[in-house]
Amino acid sequence: MKKNRNPYPCLECDLDRLSENLAALIERCHDSNIEVTGVVKAFAAQKEIVRVYERSNVKFIATSRIDQLRAMREAGINKKPLMLIRIPMLSELPDVVALSDISLQSDITVLRATNDEAKKQNKIHDVILMMDLGDLREGFWLAEEAVNAAVEIENELKNLHLAGVGVNLSCYGSVKPARRNMQALVNLAAEIERTIGRQLEWVSGGASTSMYMALGGMMPYRINMLRIGEFGLLGGIYGCYPDFMHRDVFTLKAEVIECRDKPSHPIGELEVDAFGRTRTYEDRGIRRRALLAVGRMDYGDPADIIPRRKGVEVLGASSDHTILDVEDVKDEIKVGDVLEFDVTYGALAYLSSADSVCVTTKGGNS
Ligand SMILES: *Cc1c(COP(=O)(O)O)cnc(C)c1O
Repeated sequence: MKKNRNPYPCLECDLDRLSENLAALIERCHDSNIEVTGVVKAFAAQKEIVRVYERSNVKFIATSRIDQLRAMREAGINKKPLMLIRIPMLSELPDVVALSDISLQSDITVLRATNDEAKKQNKIHDVILMMDLGDLREGFWLAEEAVNAAVEIENELKNLHLAGVGVNLSCYGSVKPARRNMQALVNLAAEIERTIGRQLEWVSGGASTSMYMALGGMMPYRINMLRIGEFGLLGGIYGCYPDFMHRDVFTLKAEVIECRDKPSHPIGELEVDAFGRTRTYEDRGIRRRALLAVGRMDYGDPADIIPRRKGVEVLGASSDHTILDVEDVKDEIKVGDVLEFDVTYGALAYLSSADSVCVTTKGGNS
C-alpha cells in the first residue's frame, strides 16, 4: 500500500503496548457498564494494527472513511462489526451499506436514502442517531427532530434498525463532556424509548474526552458506549493520562542527513518561509544543527513531533526537511543516525496515511 520501500522515515507501532492499553481501558469501562468502540482512523486503519483491536474486547471497530472500511474488509477483518462514524455522504451510500454494519446518522434525507439502499442490497442496516449538544459539529439540533426521525425509522424505514443515540463533543466547539450534556443525551434516549415503546441498545456518550468520566465513575448509568481512538493509542488525552496506560505505543523514526555548526539566525534580507509566513529567529550564535529526512508532507506540523532524546529541539520544518538544534548533545549525533520522536494525534494521522512513511510493528505474538 505504501510507496516508500526505504526503512525511513518510519512509524513504528508496539502492538503489545497497544494491546495492553486496550485491555486496561476496556476493563475500566466495563466496571462502569460501558462497552468500547475502537476507533482506528488515526492510524489509517493499517491492518496489522487493526488486528490488535480484532483480538481485543472492543464491541465495534470504527472509522470515518469508506476507503478504510473497504481495506479492512479486503484484509478479512471480520470478527467485529464495523461502524462508520462520519455522517455518510449521499454519494457513498452503496458503500456504506455494503461495507459497514452500523453508521452514525444525523439527517432524515440521508436516513431515507440509506434505507432505500439497504432495501436494494436486501440488508438491515443499523443506525445511531447523533445529537448535537453544543459542540456544533454533527447532530440533530432539536430533540423533537431526533424523536421524529426515530419514529420514522421505527415505523417506516423497514431496512434500518435504530440501534441507539450518540453525541460527539470536544471537537469543533471544545465542549467538555460533563454531567449536564451526558444527562441530556440520556434524557433524549429515554424520550425516544418512550415514544417507540422499546429499549435502545446503545447510548454512545462520546470519544476519548469522555473517558475521564468513566474512569471516575461519573457516567450516568444509561451511557453504555464510548468510541475511543486517541486514549488507547496515545495512552490518554489532554488532562487525563492515567499511569496504567503506555504513552509510547507509536514512535516516529527519522534519519539524519546533515549535521554541522551553523548560525542560528539566517543570513540576508528576510522575506517569507516556504509556506509564505513571516517568521522571527532568535540569534543564539553558532550552534550544531541536524537535518532530518522527514517533513511537513509526512507529519503535518513540526510542533506535533516530540524528540525522545533530551537536548534535541525541533526548530522548524519545510515539506521534506526537519531542522533540529542538537547543540546540547552534539557529540552524540552524526549523519546516518536515526532519531526517535513521540507523536501527537495529528501527526499520527498524517504519518500513517503518508505514502512516504513506512509503518512497521513490533511485538504482537502474545
Ligand atoms: C474521531 C471520532 C471518535 C474518536 O475520537 P478520539 O478522540 O480519537 O477518541 C469518536 N467519534 C467520532 C464521531 C469521531 O469522529
